[in-house]
Amino acid sequence: MMMPGRTARTLVAAMTPIAVPAALLACALVWAQAAEPPADTAAPPRPEPVRETILPAAGEGEGSEAPADIFNALPRFGQQLFARAQPRMAAPAETQPGAAETPVPASVPVPASYVVGPGDALSLRVVVREWEQVAQEMTVTPEGFIFPEQLERMIAAGQTIDSVRQAVTQAYSRIFADPEVIATAPQRMTAAGVGDFLSKASSSADWRASNILRDEYYCPRPREFSDDIQTRIIETAPRVGYADPEAIGVVLEGLLLTGLGMVIAGSSAPASGGEHLISHYLDMKHALYGTPNDLHGAQVGVGTVYALRLWEKVLELDPQALDVDALIARQPTDEQVRIWVEDDWGPVAPEVLAQWREKALDAEGLRAELGRFRDRYWQMRELLSQDLLSSDVAAKAIKQAGGPVRPEELDAPIDECRKAELFARFLRNRFTILDLAAEVGVT
Ligand SMILES: [Zn+2]
Repeated sequence: MMMPGRTARTLVAAMTPIAVPAALLACALVWAQAAEPPADTAAPPRPEPVRETILPAAGEGEGSEAPADIFNALPRFGQQLFARAQPRMAAPAETQPGAAETPVPASVPVPASYVVGPGDALSLRVVVREWEQVAQEMTVTPEGFIFPEQLERMIAAGQTIDSVRQAVTQAYSRIFADPEVIATAPQRMTAAGVGDFLSKASSSADWRASNILRDEYYCPRPREFSDDIQTRIIETAPRVGYADPEAIGVVLEGLLLTGLGMVIAGSSAPASGGEHLISHYLDMKHALYGTPNDLHGAQVGVGTVYALRLWEKVLELDPQALDVDALIARQPTDEQVRIWVEDDWGPVAPEVLAQWREKALDAEGLRAELGRFRDRYWQMRELLSQDLLSSDVAAKAIKQAGGPVRPEELDAPIDECRKAELFARFLRNRFTILDLAAEVGVT
């Protein structure tokens, strides 16, 4: 029922350009934010960044951050989670990808504090750069809802028009990846995309191995998606290093396909294995203790080279020659793991331990797993050859793109990187090469 006497209100939202579903690109978020062009000049050999108006709203705050400011403002994995877990830490800034860059034109003819009610007529206009994407007149339903195009219904009644506008803006905001813009980002950032993409070689192997050895759910489609694009990314890696937008477009395509693979799998497992745990370890240390860390993709690239080398060593073993009793005897006890985890994670150690214990094996469980490793070794080698990439090839491509391949090249402390290689496996209940290597005695 319309409420007579209410005047039409105008609600205007701006959205960031959309190219990629936001849910797909958690790993590419760094890139997406890097797409916000830096303000002034960029050092050679990169071209002068082009200052573009990402959002059309007049008079609203486009920042003038230098690349270093953008980098420092980027959200880090685990930051919010563990900031909450440890109140003494400073509260992190809100890091919604769209919120900071979605100004709203000042054409709202009612005060921001105006409380929306049933029957209010709202005029929604969504603009991407100069292009109007949505122009919609909406009336707040008697139940208090609005139905913006392409969105689920949203509750409007009882909220200020300002908060409705923010909610709509946020809902329309998406990650945008434009190769021309990303080409102006610092080389280390674009190289991070290569590192993150190539991690699919090790993460896919981890996932498939968890199926072979632990009968966990597995779907081959995500890896099939990325076969061809992996070859193209390796070929174009040197051009990524030279900031060639076409080559960067290939990397973006790869990251998009990775995201689609995760959606199809219903899990991040095809894109996140032991190499990601190494990166998460460093990020969590940063979040908890302020330990320096590096870009996600940079850390993942280094982790990928490490994980692929582990896989190479594990698959060179003679499974019949494994001394199962000796291997069982050298596994850490539950008490040892508890001490390590508490030492690493302090206030959040119970959460970490709970993750670990979901996949931890007792002696008999390990004996059975080593038996499966021996019995299924040749099958595993054959199947995993569809996933794995030579560690040297991966390292070369990341290097050509301008990224780090050794722990010493990361901004994170080397002793933390070494600890990550050993202890990152305790972080999550996901079975990875870090677990298998420890079980079969490979370091
Ligand atoms: Zn990633």
